[in-house]
Amino acid sequence: MPTPAQLHKVNHLLTHVLTAAVARRWPQVRAGDCGETCTGFYGDFSFGWTPTEDELRLLEADMRSILVECRHFVHLEKTPAQAAVFFSDNPYKLEIVETIAELDDVVGFYALDDFVDVCSCQLKELRELKAISPDAFTLTGTTPSLWRQRDKEVWLTRIQGVQASAIFGGRIGRA
Ligand SMILES: [Zn+2]
Repeated sequence: MPTPAQLHKVNHLLTHVLTAAVARRWPQVRAGDCGETCTGFYGDFSFGWTPTEDELRLLEADMRSILVECRHFVHLEKTPAQAAVFFSDNPYKLEIVETIAELDDVVGFYALDDFVDVCSCQLKELRELKAISPDAFTLTGTTPSLWRQRDKEVWLTRIQGVQASAIFGGRIGRA
């Protein structure tokens, strides 16, 4: 059985795969926050429409392809100024970078093949990503999500996924 730490790691890495998959399929959609839940993971995106069941299945297939085909998953570092330039067309990520920059003068990024995004996690190893079975998750639905509960109401669309721990069994943590 995978440990809680291993499950958490997989959920976290799946947030990166979800964000990369959305960016590839819908380049005009901007990503906000993403994170782990006790049963899976989520990501908030500026869709402007509610993704259909068919679109979720396509996205799921994209995520499985990324898990199978990805070749590079590495850590990058930028200064807050460089990070701000990188996200000049994404107000949500700009706000995230501002928050990080209040505490640190380095902003952690990851590159997942040709996709680059901010994250300070220490999990950027291809073998960790490759240890996840492509069947280890399913996307379960969407829900409206208020961006950071600010007074200026900005609603994003949250995509939710669950980890199918019964399926991936012993593959987690294998190098
Ligand atoms: Zn991360």
